[in-house]
Amino acid sequence: MSATLPARMRALRLYDVDRLEIEELEVPRPRAGELLVRTRASGICSGDLMDWYVRRKAPLVLGHEPAGEVVALGEGVEGFQIGDRVALHHHAPCFACAYCRRGAYVHCPAWRSSRLVPGGIAEYILVPRENLGDTLLLPAALPFDAASMTEPVACVAKSLRRGGVGEASRVLVIGLGAMGLLHVVAAKARGAEVCGVDFNAWRRERALALCADAVWSPDDGAAAREHGPFDVVIVGPGSPQAWRAGIDACASGGTVVLFTPTPEGVETALDGCSLYLREITLVPSYSAGPNDMREALQWLGRGIVTPAQVVTDRVTLDGAAQAYARMRAGGAALKTIVEFP
Ligand SMILES: [Zn+2]
Ligand SMILES: [Zn+2]
Repeated sequence: MSATLPARMRALRLYDVDRLEIEELEVPRPRAGELLVRTRASGICSGDLMDWYVRRKAPLVLGHEPAGEVVALGEGVEGFQIGDRVALHHHAPCFACAYCRRGAYVHCPAWRSSRLVPGGIAEYILVPRENLGDTLLLPAALPFDAASMTEPVACVAKSLRRGGVGEASRVLVIGLGAMGLLHVVAAKARGAEVCGVDFNAWRRERALALCADAVWSPDDGAAAREHGPFDVVIVGPGSPQAWRAGIDACASGGTVVLFTPTPEGVETALDGCSLYLREITLVPSYSAGPNDMREALQWLGRGIVTPAQVVTDRVTLDGAAQAYARMRAGGAALKTIVEFP
């Protein structure tokens, strides 16, 4: 145990999408089997910009993409020491149940119920015993800002795997926000040909500058016909319209990855006859498991994905609420990393 821990800390709590407050909380003390981590960098997730999704969870301490250093150990913790630099996952599976045995980690009851305390955007984070199974030691050279991208990059690794993206794939990414751009970069790194679609011209330019082969606006039907159809379409936005656009752009026998849910209770009308005769595979890809976290950390360690590609805002805790508002406004704001110097 460390003797120098403060009693109080600050954390960013979201009450509603336009009401975020910095609150003082007690610094949790690790019990047997638990770790305490001092947060050094923590990303704001694009998923937490979906009003209906984040309101379902509110009030909550925002954030689930933290990296930091171990400052205290509960009794009996093995494999970690004070001073270790780590990336944390908000959820970790049991590795033993039927879901875990077939690699469907996000459906493991332990994965669903595990959580970091109090959340990712807090000065200190308690890592419960269950979460240690997906707490990753960082390569020595990897900075904390890059390490904080492990979880979002893991979601991309899972999505590309489920979509079957390989070096011969022709891929279309719909939506070129931070997660869309990470898909573009990672699919290109696999050798795929990658195009992108977004209404926002600045985001399209960003995709081109990074490595996209071609980009266009969703209302440019001629460009879509010229470049398509695609073996794999990654649909970023969670709307029936975006899902249908993804299916339309997909080649017969191809795969559409649904990366974001539509709002709860919203029904999506699909042309079942066309879907059937064209043999389009629809693949939802929700969050990421420990296997994806390890792959993501490797990509970050090798510099395949970097903060420079998608991070447009770096703030301290005091600037985090404004940065969240800028992300919600979209446009030229992509990813925010909250840094804890
Ligand atoms: Zn996230
Ligand atoms: Zn399990």
